Formats: sequence, structure tokens, C-alpha cells
Amino acid sequence: MILHLDKNTPNKIINSYVENTSSFVNVKQEYIQLVNSSVNKNFPKELSPFVLQEFVFENDIQLASIQYKTHREIPIKHISIGRNSPSLPLIMGPCSVESTEQINQVAQFLTTNRLSCIRAGAFKPRTSPYSFQGLEKKGLDILQETAKKKQLITFSEAKNAEHINQVINQADVVQIGTKSMYDQALLKALGKTNKPVLLKRGFSSTLQEFIQAAEFILCGGNENVILCERGIRTFEPKTRFTLDLCSVAWIKEHINLPIVIDPSHALGKRYGIIDLSKAAVAMGADGLLIEVHPDPNSALSDADQQIDFKVAKALINEILPLVELNNKKLC
Ligand code: PEP
Ligand code: MN
Repeated sequence: MILHLDKNTPNKIINSYVENTSSFVNVKQEYIQLVNSSVNKNFPKELSPFVLQEFVFENDIQLASIQYKTHREIPIKHISIGRNSPSLPLIMGPCSVESTEQINQVAQFLTTNRLSCIRAGAFKPRTSPYSFQGLEKKGLDILQETAKKKQLITFSEAKNAEHINQVINQADVVQIGTKSMYDQALLKALGKTNKPVLLKRGFSSTLQEFIQAAEFILCGGNENVILCERGIRTFEPKTRFTLDLCSVAWIKEHINLPIVIDPSHALGKRYGIIDLSKAAVAMGADGLLIEVHPDPNSALSDADQQIDFKVAKALINEILPLVELNNKKLC
């Protein structure tokens, strides 16, 4: 249940209610937001005089529900993302930061094509301990410095709570990877900030679990959550994962958060990235996340799926008419 309470509600009354429930209290501009389990359908009568609005739900998808709020638009520096945003971010960049030169080349490609967002991981959540784990702090420094020169918005992942503050301080958007979707220390830490978060769907998680992970961030008070569908594991081994576009349709119908589609990690190969990107834009995704590398074959991670600048340029040209059809501008 979500309650909007009058700002003059005595703390004593709020505290005595909160003590007996697992509740979250966030002070907003016009009201105090109190959130607790959807099992609760009523509130104590002492609170009644202070309740401005109440929202009752069937399950714990609450703050993210369209029944609570229609679409949220998430501001990220000079752009925004969401259904009502005038722009559609095409977030491009390598899987990992590998060198200053590599990030410079990508940044140059993006600015030449008037794109605003660069992605690159410094803390890489790899499946094998023997694979490249990322440049860590040095990688964040490279990304931050280059992006600052070119006025680009940076997306970079945090893989655990140990270095979360470094990523919060140095990236504009913190990405939570598929393997960290359940990491509640990370989710709670991000809930305490106002940092925009790109939350990727766990590859074995249901939509209910995915959105409940987003609720961990939202109930902490951070409203800036962007969802990312990046493919789920199915019985099919010919592609790396299965891009679940049905999830995007479901999210658009039921959830108030923007949804970005990442075809690169879903397919795991570069050959179909343009086609999947077109499908994503055509069905109304709020943004795209694409792995782009100056020399994909030499990439230190996810080499098979990264596209080069020539293919990235072709992708831009092919999705442009679809973006315009949706009355948006690529950014
Ligand atoms: C990535 O974006 O490079 C990444 C590791 O993504 P995922 O968590 O979806 O595998
Ligand atoms: Mn990757």
C-alpha cells in the first residue's frame, strides 16, 4: 500500500505505524510518501485525518505500477528518457573500457553522429575468474575524462557494493548488470541516492522479480530507475540469450518506468543487431543500448557481439525513420 500523507502528519503517529510494518517513508515536495507491503489494504484510524491519497495493490509492484503514476520521465543531465521524452537515447560504446585511445575513438564517433550517451564498463561481472575483469578505477577515470571533454553522458556498471560509491561519483548513470539484479546491497545503496540507474533484467528472472528489484531502489526514495531488457535464458542454445520483446509490451502496459532494449547481450552475435534494434524502436522502446568497439575482434570482452563504426553508422541510418515515426529525435 502507498499512502500520501499531509506534510503536517505528526512524526509520532507515523513512527508508531512504521514500527510495526516494513515501511519506507520518503518526504516529497507536496506530501510524505509511505510505502509498505501490498498485503496491507487498510491503515490505522489515527492516520486517517492525514491521508491525502491511498493506493492499494494486488502485489508488491507498487511504486513502479502504472496504477500509481503514469509514465515517468527520467532526467539525465541535458536529456531525458521515457515515453513522453522528445528524444530516444541510443547509448553506444564498448563492453569494457580498454584504453584512453579506444574511448576517445568511440567518443569521436558519437559526437560526429550527434549522440549524447557513451557506455563502457570498468568493473566487469565476468562468468570466468580468468577473463578480463575490467580496468576498475583507472577505467572510470578514462571514461570520465573523455566524456567530460566531449560533454557525453556516461553509463558504467557497478558489480558490487564495495565500489558502488566510485561508480556513483564518476558515472552519470549507474548500470546494474544481469548478474547483480538481485544484489540488494547495491539496490539499497542506489535507493539512497538520486542517481539515475539502468537496471538490467536478471537473465533467469521473471518480470515480477525484475520489477521488485526496481522497487528496492524506488522505495529508498530514488525515482530515477530505467529498466533494461537484455535477454533471458531459454532452452535455445543457438543464440546467447532470447530477447524477450513480450516483456517490453508487458512493461509498457503495466509499469511506469522507461524501458531500454539491449540486443547486443541478447543475441551475442553482431549479425542481427540492426534488425533487432529496428524491432525495438518499432515497438516503442524508450532507448537502445548497443555495444560498439573500434576493432571488435580485438575486444577484451564480448568480442563476438560488438559492432564496428561502419555497422553502427548503418544502424543509426536504419533506425532513424522509425524514431521519427514515433515523433522522437535520436540523442
Ligand atoms: C554489459 O552491459 O557489458 C553487461 C555485462 O551486461 P549484462 O549484465 O546484461 O550481461
Ligand atoms: Mn558486454
